[in-house]
This record gives sequence, C-alpha cells and structure tokens, in this order.
Amino acid sequence: MTQTDSLDRTERAAIDSVPTGLFIGGQWRDTAATMPVDDPSTGQVLCRVADAGPEDGLAALAAAAAAQRDWARTSPRERSEILMRAHRRLLEDVDRLALIATLEMGKPLAEARGEIAYAAEFFRWFAEEAVRLDGGYMPAPTGGSRFLVTRQPVGPSLLITPWNFPMAMGTRKIGPALAAGCTCVVKPAEQTPLCTLALAEILRECGVPAGVVNVVTTADPGALMTPLILDERSRKLSFTGSTAVGKVLLERCARTVMRTSMELGGNAPFIVFADADLDAAIDGVMAAKMRNIGQACTAANRILVQREVFEEFAGRLAARMGELPMGRGTEPGVVVGPLIDADAVGKVSELVADARARGARVLVGGVPVEGPGNFYPATVLVDVPDDAAMCGTEIFGPVAALAPFDTEDEVVQRANDTPYGLVAYVYTENLRRGLRVCEALETGMVGLNQGVVSNPAAPFGGVKESGLGREGGLVGIDEFLELKYIGVQL
Ligand code: NAP
Repeated sequence: MTQTDSLDRTERAAIDSVPTGLFIGGQWRDTAATMPVDDPSTGQVLCRVADAGPEDGLAALAAAAAAQRDWARTSPRERSEILMRAHRRLLEDVDRLALIATLEMGKPLAEARGEIAYAAEFFRWFAEEAVRLDGGYMPAPTGGSRFLVTRQPVGPSLLITPWNFPMAMGTRKIGPALAAGCTCVVKPAEQTPLCTLALAEILRECGVPAGVVNVVTTADPGALMTPLILDERSRKLSFTGSTAVGKVLLERCARTVMRTSMELGGNAPFIVFADADLDAAIDGVMAAKMRNIGQACTAANRILVQREVFEEFAGRLAARMGELPMGRGTEPGVVVGPLIDADAVGKVSELVADARARGARVLVGGVPVEGPGNFYPATVLVDVPDDAAMCGTEIFGPVAALAPFDTEDEVVQRANDTPYGLVAYVYTENLRRGLRVCEALETGMVGLNQGVVSNPAAPFGGVKESGLGREGGLVGIDEFLELKYIGVQL
C-alpha cells in the first residue's frame, strides 16, 4: 500500500490536477528539492511540491518587477474584467477547489465550499473597485496654483499567507493588488500550498499576463523571503499570520521603509449580557468558535457571560458542542475536522490542562483523540480564570472557554486587557448599551448580535498587536496605492 492510497478516485484527481512547481514569469518551473503536503486527517502525504530557495524567490521578484510597468498601464476596465473572470471561474470550479482545501487543511467540505465562495467574492469586489480609482482637483488656499491628486500602484508586492484560509487569504491580497495595478510574489503557507498553486493556474487561464502573479512555495520561509523583503524592487509587504512573525517582518521592512499591511493574531472576547437573545447568542458563539475548527484569527477566545444567565448559557452550549460529529472533513455532516498538525493538538491539550489546574471545569470534551490524524474534540470549559494561559493566547482549536462577569464596566475592562485588538462580539437586546460597549472595545471590528464579521465589502483588520491596515471594504485597495499630489501653476 502506498502512502497516498487513502485517497479515493475523486480526491486523487483533485490533488493531481494541481501544478506542483513554482509559478514564475507565467511559467511553471520544477525545483530539485521538493517538500511534502500532508493530509491532517490521516498524516499521509498527499503530494510533493517545489521547495524554493532564495534564488527562486529573487527570480520571482525579477519577473514581478519586469511586469510592473505594463501592468500598471493596463486600463482599470481590463484589470476589472480579468478579476471578474477569475471570480466566475472559482465559483464554477468550487467542487474541486473545496476538496483541495479540505484535503490539505482539514476543514469540513461544507466550510471549504464557503471559503471558496468567500475567496471568489474578493475578486468580484475588487473587480468593481478597480474602475473607481478617483482623485482630486482643488485650488491652493493662497490661490494661483492648483492641487491635482491622483493614485498610483505602489509597485511589486510581496504577499505572505497563512494556512487556515488557504484560498481566501490569497484572494484577499491578490484581488486588491491586481485591481490597483500591482504585480506580486505570493508565498503561501508551507502546510497548505495547493490552493494558491491551483489559483495561479486559474489566474493564468483568466488572462493575467506573465509575471503579474508569481507563486513560490518553500519549507524555509525566512531564507526565501528575507532577501526579497530587503530588495529595493519590493515596494510592499502584505502579511497575514501570527503576531510573532509579523513583528520580525516589520523590523526587516524598516530597513527599506517598505509599506506594510499586517493582519495578525487575535484574542476575541465574546460578551453575552443577561438581556441577550440567548438562542441567537448560542448560534453566534457556535459560529464564532467553531468556524474552521476554532482555527481562525476571529475565533471567540474568551466567552464572557453575565452571571444571571451563565449556567443556562453554559449548559446549552455544552449540549450543542457535545453533539458535533468529528471526523475527516470529506465525510458528510462532519463539523469537527482535524487540527492542522500534531503540534496544534499538543498546544490545545496543554492549554486545557493549564486551565483545569487553575480551577476550570470541563462540561464536555477535554480529552485528545488518538490518531491517526490530528483530532481534538469539541470542548467546553467553565469558570476559566483570567490568568489561565488560554485567556492570554489564541487557543486555535475547538475549545470554548467560559467565565462569568457582573457589570458592564468590568467586562469591558477585562475584554480590553490584552495586547490583541482584532475583533470582539457583543450580544444584548439593549441598543444603547450595545453601541456603548462597541465603542469602548479596543478592537478593529465588533460583531453586535452576530458571530461572523468577515465580509469582502467591509474593512477587515485589527488594532494594537493585531495589525496595521485593512483588507476589503472601500479602503482595501488603498493598501496597494500611493497618493501623488501634483502642484500645477496656472
Ligand atoms: P505564521 O506561522 O505566522 O505563518 C504565516 C505565514 O508566514 C506562512 O506563510 C509562513 O510560512 C510565513 N512565515 C513564517 N516565518 C516567516 C519568515 N521568517 N519570513 C517570511 N515568512 C514567514 O502563522 P500561521 O500559523 O500560518 O497562521 C496562523 C496565524 O495567522 C494566527 O495567529 C492567526 O490569528 C493569524 N491570522 C490572522 C488573520 C487576520 O486577518 N488577522 C487571518 C488568518 C490568520 P510557513 O508556513 O512556511 O511557516
């Protein structure tokens, strides 16, 4: 039996349909070294892809730099039409692409289909934005001269993406870069390169010219990307990943004063007031906690429930969590797929053990599942103290950590007591209180009576150590544009 025999015929066909080389200057290139891509539900190798070194990275940057001038000169309408074609192609190809995402990342197939639709939506949104690049014309306050203000592409951009949304994190960056007239070098996560490789081929087929999008995969991201970050031809780094890596990259970007966008980690509080619609709050927390098996930067990390309804809320949540089917993401009805790797299971297990040692009680789950595969069951912990390790770091797994609170001031203070500031969730039927709390929370986004905030038409991003800049919305394209002011003497 070979290592890949665990795939059925459709799964094998989906994996084999993905090019496995580097995509540079419009051509697929093989490398001498390759790296494995594992199925997190079995631990078996799905396929091997190119393992690029620094010289490959520099070749990709050279291709992006060479293509920059002509791409910036294409008409906004042409760029828009290419993105619109790619939007349609992703939707037409959703079955294959969702299967690829599930196999390399582990998420349930239904969620993977949702991710492909979400990913496609970034192309539609930025296709629509590409043709709305406005400017300005105004008299100088002293009279005489005029100010012309225009916006130009920032230039060749480095796009680094994480493994948890392997398709959507790519389109969320490639969409605005292309719409603005920027070329790019994309480096997907080592564990999930296949979605980006499949996307590169789709973009080629949809008419993206050679050199405009380049993709490099590697097992040594520091060695590959550092020379590119320090190279003056790179004009922009857009990074999504952990705060720890983001800080290292920001320091490197300082060397050339490179423009950066940073979408980093989160530690979302999910706040339920006693006057909340508890049915809606339970649905909301299930979405905010269990999307992507808890492996989302937006995941509800600290669930704070007002004492009057704490026991009822915890009991109802435990009942819902306890009935979630666990298994391989391709199996019908599965909600709890595998975590990305064995380290993730180890980290979640340690966080749960630490919380229990500090007095937290397990209502459901809490015991790691034996392999093969990296499974951890849906878990509910109550009375998790604020000093538990899981309250200070991203759990990144299917573990709901609940604690009671008494007053509005107290919960706002506790919610803000973190270096992170990506998203928070608030459930209350009192609109005045809801808006007051939303304003007081130190986050870039808040879900008020809703458990999902991600939307290509909204500005996604964080404050504090959760990041810099916004992706999506009316401002998303600005991350890839420079303002230029031209003083005109009449
Ligand atoms: P990560 O370890 O920081 O990796 C992110 C990306 O950076 C990967 O492509 C990784 O490559 C690459 N990388 C790592 N070290 C690098 C270096 N020295 N130079 C250049 N690139 C480097 O994060 P992750 O574990 O993949 O993703 C999970 C994190 O992403 C969580 O913290 C989550 O909250 C965050 N996230 C944030 C958002 C948001 O929008 N705010 C969205 C999704 C995820 P390798 O894969 O080869 O290590």
